[in-house]
Amino acid sequence: MASQISQWKPPVQKGRRSFDDQDFVSSVTTQFSQKGTLSDRQIAALLKVLTNYQDQIPQFQQRLEALGLEAAPAYKKEPPKEIDEVCPECGAKLVLRHSRRGSFIGCSAYPKCKFIKKNNG
Ligand SMILES: [Zn+2]
Repeated sequence: MASQISQWKPPVQKGRRSFDDQDFVSSVTTQFSQKGTLSDRQIAALLKVLTNYQDQIPQFQQRLEALGLEAAPAYKKEPPKEIDEVCPECGAKLVLRHSRRGSFIGCSAYPKCKFIKKNNG
């Protein structure tokens, strides 16, 4: 299915890690063809990436169903992910949260603490 995608988005740099959709999909699909299985986490991530490219994949929904997968809702809520930093205001862990406007780093004590780390840019 990934072979249908001709225009990949450029890799995204987040902190020290770079997220390259094309790299990710090719490594996951290679693993799938070798082992015939993927972890739930990999499947979820793969679905999310493929959903971003569904305009380029003919019969996207049907293909997913054929694989026994379901398309991820566009703005599916993800559980916040803890990062290795603490809140300068209350000392709780900071977490990576996702919203319609993108991801941001906030305090895990929200709504008690409304600290949000400012992004550069
Ligand atoms: Zn806080």
